[in-house]
Amino acid sequence: MSTQPTNDAFVVYDHVQKSYDGQSLVVKDLNLTIGKGEFLTMLGPSGSGKTTCLMMLAGFETATSGEIRLDGKNINDVPPHKRGIGMVFQNYALFPHMTVGENLSFPLEVRSLGKSEREDRVTRALDMVQMGQFRNRRPAQLSGGQQQRIALARALVFDPKLVLMDEPLGALDKQLREHMQFEIKALHERLGITVVYVTHDQGEALTMSDRVAVFNDGRIQQLAPPADLYERPENSFVASFIGENNKLPGRIEKLEGGKALVRLANGELIDATAVNIRENGQETLVSIRPERVEFKPEMMPPGAHTIDAEVLDVVYMGDILRTRLRVAESTNFVMKSRNTLGQTRLSAGQKIKIGWHPQDARALDPV
Ligand code: ADP
Repeated sequence: MSTQPTNDAFVVYDHVQKSYDGQSLVVKDLNLTIGKGEFLTMLGPSGSGKTTCLMMLAGFETATSGEIRLDGKNINDVPPHKRGIGMVFQNYALFPHMTVGENLSFPLEVRSLGKSEREDRVTRALDMVQMGQFRNRRPAQLSGGQQQRIALARALVFDPKLVLMDEPLGALDKQLREHMQFEIKALHERLGITVVYVTHDQGEALTMSDRVAVFNDGRIQQLAPPADLYERPENSFVASFIGENNKLPGRIEKLEGGKALVRLANGELIDATAVNIRENGQETLVSIRPERVEFKPEMMPPGAHTIDAEVLDVVYMGDILRTRLRVAESTNFVMKSRNTLGQTRLSAGQKIKIGWHPQDARALDPV
């Protein structure tokens, strides 16, 4: 089951709620189980409650109600430094007056490890992030990317079983960011640690995670592996938040065995997969990914539904052609076609028929 962790339960949020002002809940009845060794990302727009969830797990915020368990133990009353959790944040929070080596040694001193053990562990952690030669520098003598590597090494130096990361790559430029994503993922796989990662960047979430919890308005909207989130969004929020998506408004005409017959705004009827709709007459948004739309008859999938469309404009994007269409009164319907050899070039004003497999049309909630 996609919503289950891949391994034994390690972190459990059990009916967790959080209010800062005693009135409004910024985290609403969170139930989430994270498996041992899993890379789980909390993804969502700003203000959706991700950081609050992470901070409650770290111990810097307390849950207003509910229980958080780590390795089977209720940790609600355990202070942060006794939770054995490594942490990396966007602002590296390295101590400026200490060298890199001293920064890494600090969490070990706090844990009363002896000098030679500390030295060994610092060496190992620096090697992990390929920063061994920078041991005697101070943070100000390092680039942003290097500082973030040190912050990562510091989070790993005491061998935590769980590492929390909150937008750790937010301050880095795109290229470095992608490189660090790769490094963090490789470290996760090599060390077998459990990672809970917070980001608002869907690309980052999709490339790194085993599962992604999509947050909005203090609730998990969907919890699934990356491909499922993209291919099988369970509601309109997730369909819009993850990737590009066409939305055709309509009304449910017939609902039967997981299939929906939908009447679109122009009166036309189309078949769709019923996802989270309940009854006939209900309004719906039919979601169709742009790359699942086809206009060449010979390329139509078997059982495809075809519908009239008018080309509004075509944007050349190198590897793909992005065609904006008028479809059933919607003027923002996008079709993406691969720019293959001999691809038919469409032009504005052209009337065409487009089609898609009914499975790729998902009748979702109207908002
Ligand atoms: P995200 O990480 O998804 O951006 P946050 O968990 O930071 O979301 O915030 C969720 C909501 O809680 C927001 O409305 C935010 O303004 C509010 N909030 C966050 N931290 C505090 C705080 N320390 N005091 C009061 N309100 C807060």
